Amino acid sequence: MTSPTSNETRDLVILGSGCAGLTAAIYAARSNLKPLVLEGHEPGGQLSITTLVENFPGWPDGVQGPELIENMKKQAQRFGAELRMAHLSGADLTSHPIQLQVGAETIHTRTVIIASGASARWLNLPSEQALIGHGVSSCATCDGFFASGKEIAVIGGGDSAMEEALFLTRFASKVTLINRTAKFRASPIMLERAKSHPNIKFLHSTIVEEVLGVEEKDVKGLRLKNTVSGDQFVLPVSFMFLGIGHIPNAQAFKGMMDLDEDGYIVAKDDVHCTLNGEILPGVFCAGDIKDRKYRQAITAAGSGCMAALEVERYLEAHGR
Ligand code: NDP
Repeated sequence: MTSPTSNETRDLVILGSGCAGLTAAIYAARSNLKPLVLEGHEPGGQLSITTLVENFPGWPDGVQGPELIENMKKQAQRFGAELRMAHLSGADLTSHPIQLQVGAETIHTRTVIIASGASARWLNLPSEQALIGHGVSSCATCDGFFASGKEIAVIGGGDSAMEEALFLTRFASKVTLINRTAKFRASPIMLERAKSHPNIKFLHSTIVEEVLGVEEKDVKGLRLKNTVSGDQFVLPVSFMFLGIGHIPNAQAFKGMMDLDEDGYIVAKDDVHCTLNGEILPGVFCAGDIKDRKYRQAITAAGSGCMAALEVERYLEAHGR
């Protein structure tokens, strides 16, 4: 039996439906490229699990992340973008047309924009992994409600951790923010907001050694260690939320293109994917998957726009 194979060659397929992918879709759709967006494992990307976004220009009072994403989707669809709940299972990026595997289907396309973003980082402790969904979470927005009236911990010292801790004060009776060093990466304004909140307590220079409650299948506390004094102690909490950054979703492209030591796509001129330093024709990237430095909604959107404009130029140069 042969796999169902579409004979149609598309102009553009976009992998990922976060800020970068959807902005690329808006631009490409308005250029009549009828882009297909494969929404990926985390439809809507990181904004879809964020609460208030206060730094996206044009929203003086802020906008909820999911609302922003929903609006972007509608905007892309209005101009003819096709969104599909699917993810890539394989690819040949050097063939022309490029071949993308989605389950049993092979999609042929002249160009692709990889905008699969980045996913939450975990501590990777066996006890943490065993308790994901049983009191361990990387998504305060999704699971905060379940922490209602409970004492909880948030791990991390960046803006994500501060944002989560502040958000979780709506539900939890007490939030302990645990940072592994004495230095916080968070912006001063976010750090100050969290520090001045009466229900948030800070523990710095402290690491999680074990999440307690594996047998009970329910978080009972954290075994912590102060890295300066070496003291170990137990913090009784019912929830642990991770806010320790993200990992680029580029593992599927390992060996197909140049990735840096942390797995981010190495982008030439900000938009081109390369293999052994040479541009891969027709293969573009955008957003957090290639951005270890800025990682903002607006920079992701900007890079999605750049990638879409480069796709247009590429297609024009190739007689489309
Ligand atoms: P960051 O990389 O800024 O911070 C990650 C934090 O997690 C650091 O404190 C880091 O500690 C800690 N960490 C990493 N790995 C571990 C580990 N294995 N164990 C314990 N701690 C660990 O990531 P964020 O997600 O916080 O922020 C990413 C970007 O997004 C930033 O540019 C930020 O400004 C932006 N952002 C903006 C928001 C807003 O404007 N509202 C909200 C959220 C994010 P260490 O410092 O020791 O490495």
